[in-house]
Amino acid sequence: MTDPACIFCKIAAGEVPATFVHEGEQLLALRDVRPQAPVHLLVIPRAHVASLCEADRDHRDLLGEMLLLAAGLAREHGLATRGYRTVINTGNDGGQTVHHLHLHLLGGRALGWPPG
Ligand code: 5GP
Ligand code: ZN
Repeated sequence: MTDPACIFCKIAAGEVPATFVHEGEQLLALRDVRPQAPVHLLVIPRAHVASLCEADRDHRDLLGEMLLLAAGLAREHGLATRGYRTVINTGNDGGQTVHHLHLHLLGGRALGWPPG
């Protein structure tokens, strides 16, 4: 499923350019256009799922693969020793601005907590 108005669907369709670090059958990973850390990647499903609120048990494998891909990318980008953060923003209070499920992988500097 895709949403023609959705920027991440457009990226998945190759209609909007992106710097990919992974292109799999189900998942893509790309560099965030406004990085908040030296490494800031986004893991997104090719299929349009608006947010974690819309996920159900049918998305179990997809959600698991998103986390495992993030862990693999963290290793590849040299983040495994010092650590990193994985974030899924959901809805308005969660700070979600792109309404296509995505997981942020952030690392390469000490990240404050709690976030603002
Ligand atoms: P959210 O706030 O929804 O959790 O995160 C959306 C993220 O997508 C933001 O960090 C933003 O910088 C990033 N983003 C928005 N539009 C684009 C785009 O066209 N390309 C890329 N690579 N990242 C984008
Ligand atoms: Zn989408």
